[in-house]
Amino acid sequence: MLSVATLLCVSCLLLGARGQDRAAMWRGNDRSGRCQYTFTVSSPTEASCPTQAGGPEMDALKSRLSLLEVMVTRLAGGEASGAVDTAAGGPGAGAVQQQQQQKLQEAYSQAMGEKAQLRREKDNLDRQVQDLQRRLEESRQEAERLRSRPCVQTPPAPSAPQQDSGLRPAGDPSWHYGSPGYQELKAEVTEVPVPTPAYIEVGTGCGELVAIGEPVTHRKADTIAGKYGVWMQDPEAVAPYGAGMVWRIDTVGSEVRQLFGYEDTEQLARGYPTKVLLLPEAVESTGATMYRGSLYYQRRRSRTLLRYDLSSESIAARRDLPHAGFHGQFPYSWGGYTDIDLAVDEQGLWAIYSTNKAKGAIVIAKLDPHSLEVLKTWETNIRKVTAANAFMICGRLYTVASYTAAETTINYTFDTATSQGKALSVPLKNKYRYNSMIDYNPVQRKLFAWDNYHIVSYDVRLGRQQ
Ligand code: CA
Repeated sequence: MLSVATLLCVSCLLLGARGQDRAAMWRGNDRSGRCQYTFTVSSPTEASCPTQAGGPEMDALKSRLSLLEVMVTRLAGGEASGAVDTAAGGPGAGAVQQQQQQKLQEAYSQAMGEKAQLRREKDNLDRQVQDLQRRLEESRQEAERLRSRPCVQTPPAPSAPQQDSGLRPAGDPSWHYGSPGYQELKAEVTEVPVPTPAYIEVGTGCGELVAIGEPVTHRKADTIAGKYGVWMQDPEAVAPYGAGMVWRIDTVGSEVRQLFGYEDTEQLARGYPTKVLLLPEAVESTGATMYRGSLYYQRRRSRTLLRYDLSSESIAARRDLPHAGFHGQFPYSWGGYTDIDLAVDEQGLWAIYSTNKAKGAIVIAKLDPHSLEVLKTWETNIRKVTAANAFMICGRLYTVASYTAAETTINYTFDTATSQGKALSVPLKNKYRYNSMIDYNPVQRKLFAWDNYHIVSYDVRLGRQQ
């Protein structure tokens, strides 16, 4: 054992002598107390390596590593990348451009996403509108069916509760209390409008206008075409249209031909027409009116009056209003080619206009509603151009003092029964300061007006018949 250690020791010494700078030897004791020698010898390859950092290979490695770091930093993006690139000088401009392109790409992707979302929402809204229109039409048909069904009161069946008797439809074997059919009928019956006591009270008799209520706004027009216009309800409606039907013409434009129909004022307020008619000849101004299933209006740039029949959707009568000024000759004070104003009241159909012979004073003509023939005329002593508008109630003409003043008056009246005119002062509010149309509805007992995009109405109070 010792000999082997000695041999090893000698070998070590020999090796150590041959390579002073390439070998090292340590001596120590192991746990058992025996002598232990440790040699470290550099390999030939390692011994040939450069001892200090540097050299072409190391430089190449460093430069490749730097390049990789730059690429990793760019890929990571963010502020750090910009700072490195900018500091680097040359590559900065390209990196900024790349960054901008990336941002543009992101913005484009976002915009496309929003566009797709908007399209989905639009499709959804379109479906809702179609669904509402379909339900509206179903409701209208159901209401028509209910109206046409005779409502006969029958004595109560012996087994039926007393309080049900009045609601039981005659001859309807499917009816019994509590059935789904009855519930549906009950719900629909409650929807049929009931005349209010006020309506019944004011619906009797005629008298002079004594008061006008506050303006009630029903709808604001959506576009410039509705800055001024005319809206109407037929006081003697004819099938297929019901008494609640509201008609509307937006009259801004040179070729006004669209007539919109709404089931009632609620649908008007919501902006959902159920009927759109294209009139065969263009409308002039805001003087149209509706009566006994026909629209009466002045043909554009003429003194020709037209009766458009709503059921046949065609012109049923046409006639010139003799000597009437038109297209700006004798308009109301606000202009708008309001030379001929048609009106309806308790006594029938009227035209309010002027002639050269009357020298601009208001002329009233009573018209035959079927043929449009002039039955009788009256000449007043108020100049048409000084009036903002006019309407007829119970055979009396009333003129409005101003179309722009917030607080104006009905300042003149002319009674066709006596051919007498007189000054008057009944307050009226032009809430929106540009009142382009005012007419009376004898069934509603209201004034209908079109005030600066707004469709409004006013209650009226009449005095006692004199
Ligand atoms: Ca009028």
